Amino acid sequence: MILDCAIIGGGPAGLTAGLYTTRGGLENVTMYEKGMPGGQITSSSEIENYPGVTGEITGMDLMMPWPAQCQKFGLKHDMIEIKSLTKDGDIFKIHKADGTVDEAHSVIIGTGSSPRRAGFSGEDEFFGRGVSTCATCDGFFYKGKEVAVIGGGDTALEEALYLSKICSKVYLVHRRDEFRSAPNTVERIKKTENIELILNSVPHEVYGDNMGVTGIKVKNNNGEIRDISVPGVFTFVGNDINNEVLKQEDGTFLCDVNKQGQVMVNLNMETSIAGLYATGDMRVNAPKQVISAAGDGAVAGLKAISYVDELLN
Ligand code: FAD
Ligand code: NAP
Repeated sequence: MILDCAIIGGGPAGLTAGLYTTRGGLENVTMYEKGMPGGQITSSSEIENYPGVTGEITGMDLMMPWPAQCQKFGLKHDMIEIKSLTKDGDIFKIHKADGTVDEAHSVIIGTGSSPRRAGFSGEDEFFGRGVSTCATCDGFFYKGKEVAVIGGGDTALEEALYLSKICSKVYLVHRRDEFRSAPNTVERIKKTENIELILNSVPHEVYGDNMGVTGIKVKNNNGEIRDISVPGVFTFVGNDINNEVLKQEDGTFLCDVNKQGQVMVNLNMETSIAGLYATGDMRVNAPKQVISAAGDGAVAGLKAISYVDELLN
């Protein structure tokens, strides 16, 4: 049997694509997810920027009902890792970790992205309890408080500017005295009064207690350690796009990706390959939010319905 649509990844993007394709009339839709459905937000202890969410809920609470809602409309779930995706004529081949291959007329991929870890002591221990990789998600928890930001690229500087509007002070810790970021962003950083630059310095240790982070020690090039009391540390040291599935045997990608590995899409979430849609954190210019990933899944789902309809009729 050839699936109408294969969905790779069961985060907010994949689950929403599953809802829209099945409810919109596609008969055979399977979502492949290597772990529990829900995606990376299930590791968050609190989400308060998803519309309609007014109480204190965890990422797991938010995502819990999503799979059942899709299954009600006929979405099938295959709990397996997808190794690669190829296309032969009009048919996509989904290569599964158990060595078997499924076939589909259309594919919606939403395998997400993974923020890199900086590698300092306490980073893993306090991740989600004061160490964060998302200012839009967690910045508000530090309203009126001091925070540290690690990194010297566009993301670190833009997020430091964002945090400077919410927090009383931002310590921007960067390992060199030059930034990778665009010059005008660096100028804006230098003009922002409540951002203090701590250059030629790396995080040495983040420490805290049962409640979470209470401070960070940073070490400069001369080996001197400075101890800063902050309840929040934001690290922006690069991001890996989970695009391995799209890699072909010859090392190229099935569809166009940019230098950062982000999948190029248009406003319909269409990639450079007909019938293949990329959604959520893995696509170019992704805002990396649950709401936008879900929105992408809805757009891709609707477009996949029209594509399959045209292909088969
Ligand atoms: P993901 O959620 O990453 O889902 C991708 C899924 O694909 C995963 O379940 C993964 O297991 C699966 N997968 C990957 N590769 C394969 C494969 N080869 N085969 C099968 N399955 C595969 N956003 C907000 O809007 N508000 C917040 O407050 C917020 N807080 C956050 C807090 C934390 C700690 C983190 C980590 C993220 C937070 N985010 C928040 C961001 C949000 O989680 C992401 O933007 C969103 O989950 C992206 O959805 P996605 O579907 O694109 O990808
Ligand atoms: P990035 O450009 O790779 O920058 C990562 C930063 O983290 C660098 O300053 C790096 O230092 C530092 N770093 C890396 N590992 C570290 C470690 N272990 N400890 C301490 N510091 C560490 O990543 P990004 O900022 O996420 O940007 C990724 C790409 O997206 C870039 O091409 C960027 O231009 C683009 N982007 C563009 C925009 C925009 O145009 N508005 C916005 C966001 C991102 P070094 O500088 O010393 O290497």
